[in-house]
Amino acid sequence: MIKKIELNMKIEHIGIAVKNAEVSTQLFNTLFNTTPYKEEEVLSENVKTIFYKTGETKVELLQATNSESAIAKFIDKKGEGMHHIAFAVEDIYAEITRLKAAGFVFVNETPKQGADNKLIVFLHPKSSNGVLLELCQDIK
Ligand code: ZN
Repeated sequence: MIKKIELNMKIEHIGIAVKNAEVSTQLFNTLFNTTPYKEEEVLSENVKTIFYKTGETKVELLQATNSESAIAKFIDKKGEGMHHIAFAVEDIYAEITRLKAAGFVFVNETPKQGADNKLIVFLHPKSSNGVLLELCQDIK
Protein backbone atom coordinates (compact mmCIF):
# COMPACT_ATOMS: atom_id res chain seq x y z
CA MET A 1 0.00 0.00 0.00
CA ILE A 2 1.26 3.46 -0.86
CA LYS A 3 1.09 5.82 2.05
CA LYS A 4 0.01 9.34 1.17
CA ILE A 5 2.27 12.01 2.50
CA GLU A 6 0.55 15.08 3.82
CA LEU A 7 1.22 18.22 1.82
CA ASN A 8 3.76 19.98 3.91
CA MET A 9 5.29 22.70 1.82
CA LYS A 10 5.80 25.98 3.59
CA ILE A 11 5.68 29.10 1.46
CA GLU A 12 9.32 30.11 1.57
CA HIS A 13 8.95 33.35 -0.35
CA ILE A 14 6.93 35.28 -2.88
CA GLY A 15 8.79 36.70 -5.87
CA ILE A 16 7.86 40.10 -7.27
CA ALA A 17 9.22 41.33 -10.60
CA VAL A 18 10.29 44.98 -10.47
CA LYS A 19 11.74 47.34 -13.07
CA ASN A 20 13.94 49.31 -10.73
CA ALA A 21 15.19 47.66 -7.55
CA GLU A 22 16.21 50.97 -5.98
CA VAL A 23 12.79 52.53 -6.40
CA SER A 24 11.04 49.35 -5.24
CA THR A 25 13.34 48.95 -2.24
CA GLN A 26 12.26 52.39 -1.03
CA LEU A 27 8.62 51.42 -1.52
CA PHE A 28 8.95 48.10 0.32
CA ASN A 29 11.09 49.64 3.08
CA THR A 30 8.17 51.93 3.81
CA LEU A 31 5.58 49.18 3.42
CA PHE A 32 7.32 46.72 5.75
CA ASN A 33 8.90 49.41 7.95
CA THR A 34 12.25 47.67 7.69
CA THR A 35 15.16 47.20 5.30
CA PRO A 36 16.13 44.14 3.22
CA TYR A 37 18.24 41.52 4.97
CA LYS A 38 19.99 40.54 1.79
CA GLU A 39 20.84 41.71 -1.72
CA GLU A 40 22.31 39.21 -4.12
CA GLU A 41 22.97 39.04 -7.83
CA VAL A 42 22.32 35.63 -9.43
CA LEU A 43 24.54 35.65 -12.51
CA SER A 44 23.09 32.44 -14.00
CA GLU A 45 19.59 33.97 -13.92
CA ASN A 46 20.57 37.52 -14.88
CA VAL A 47 18.77 38.94 -11.88
CA LYS A 48 19.42 41.09 -8.88
CA THR A 49 17.44 39.89 -5.86
CA ILE A 50 16.47 41.73 -2.71
CA PHE A 51 15.03 39.84 0.25
CA TYR A 52 12.77 40.93 3.07
CA LYS A 53 11.72 38.80 6.00
CA THR A 54 7.99 39.00 6.54
CA GLY A 55 7.21 36.85 9.57
CA GLU A 56 7.64 33.17 8.69
CA THR A 57 8.12 33.89 5.01
CA LYS A 58 10.04 36.24 2.73
CA VAL A 59 9.46 38.59 -0.14
CA GLU A 60 11.97 38.53 -2.99
CA LEU A 61 12.19 41.50 -5.34
CA LEU A 62 13.65 40.56 -8.72
CA GLN A 63 15.16 43.01 -11.15
CA ALA A 64 16.61 41.98 -14.51
CA THR A 65 20.30 42.75 -14.96
CA ASN A 66 20.09 42.42 -18.74
CA SER A 67 17.56 41.87 -21.54
CA GLU A 68 18.18 38.08 -21.57
CA SER A 69 16.72 37.76 -18.11
CA ALA A 70 13.41 35.92 -17.66
CA ILE A 71 12.38 38.87 -15.50
CA ALA A 72 12.92 41.33 -18.37
CA LYS A 73 10.78 39.13 -20.61
CA PHE A 74 8.10 38.79 -17.93
CA ILE A 75 7.91 42.58 -17.41
CA ASP A 76 7.78 43.18 -21.19
CA LYS A 77 4.80 40.84 -21.43
CA LYS A 78 2.91 41.42 -18.21
CA GLY A 79 4.41 44.43 -16.49
CA GLU A 80 5.67 44.52 -12.92
CA GLY A 81 4.04 42.35 -10.30
CA MET A 82 3.67 38.90 -8.75
CA HIS A 83 6.13 36.61 -10.45
CA HIS A 84 6.28 33.34 -8.50
CA ILE A 85 5.50 31.54 -5.26
CA ALA A 86 8.30 29.47 -3.78
CA PHE A 87 7.69 26.42 -1.61
CA ALA A 88 10.36 25.00 0.66
CA VAL A 89 10.88 21.26 0.28
CA GLU A 90 13.05 18.81 2.21
CA ASP A 91 14.16 16.80 -0.80
CA ILE A 92 13.95 18.67 -4.10
CA TYR A 93 14.99 15.61 -6.16
CA ALA A 94 12.24 13.45 -4.64
CA GLU A 95 9.67 16.18 -5.27
CA ILE A 96 10.75 16.56 -8.92
CA THR A 97 10.37 12.80 -9.41
CA ARG A 98 6.99 12.74 -7.65
CA LEU A 99 5.57 15.73 -9.52
CA LYS A 100 6.90 14.66 -12.93
CA ALA A 101 5.21 11.28 -12.43
CA ALA A 102 2.00 13.18 -11.65
CA GLY A 103 2.25 15.05 -14.96
CA PHE A 104 3.67 18.39 -13.91
CA VAL A 105 5.97 20.16 -16.35
CA PHE A 106 9.17 21.77 -15.17
CA VAL A 107 10.95 24.77 -16.67
CA ASN A 108 14.25 23.15 -15.71
CA GLU A 109 14.36 19.58 -14.44
CA THR A 110 17.75 19.81 -12.82
CA PRO A 111 17.90 22.03 -9.73
CA LYS A 112 20.04 25.14 -10.06
CA GLN A 113 21.80 27.22 -7.47
CA GLY A 114 19.47 30.12 -6.71
CA ALA A 115 19.70 33.12 -4.43
CA ASP A 116 19.82 32.84 -0.65
CA ASN A 117 21.75 29.55 -0.55
CA LYS A 118 19.08 27.42 -2.19
CA LEU A 119 18.73 24.75 -4.82
CA ILE A 120 15.79 25.79 -6.96
CA VAL A 121 13.59 24.45 -9.71
CA PHE A 122 10.57 26.00 -11.43
CA LEU A 123 7.32 24.34 -12.46
CA HIS A 124 5.92 25.64 -15.71
CA PRO A 125 2.81 27.76 -15.17
CA LYS A 126 0.96 25.82 -17.86
CA SER A 127 0.75 22.83 -15.53
CA SER A 128 -0.09 24.82 -12.39
CA ASN A 129 -3.08 26.99 -13.26
CA GLY A 130 -1.01 29.83 -14.66
CA VAL A 131 1.09 30.29 -11.53
CA LEU A 132 4.86 30.00 -11.75
CA LEU A 133 5.89 27.83 -8.82
CA GLU A 134 9.39 27.43 -7.44
CA LEU A 135 10.52 24.56 -5.25
CA CYS A 136 13.53 25.33 -3.13
CA GLN A 137 15.73 23.43 -0.75
CA ASP A 138 18.37 24.81 1.56
CA ILE A 139 21.92 23.94 0.58
CA LYS A 140 23.44 22.41 3.71
ZN1 ZN B 1 12.29 32.84 -5.86
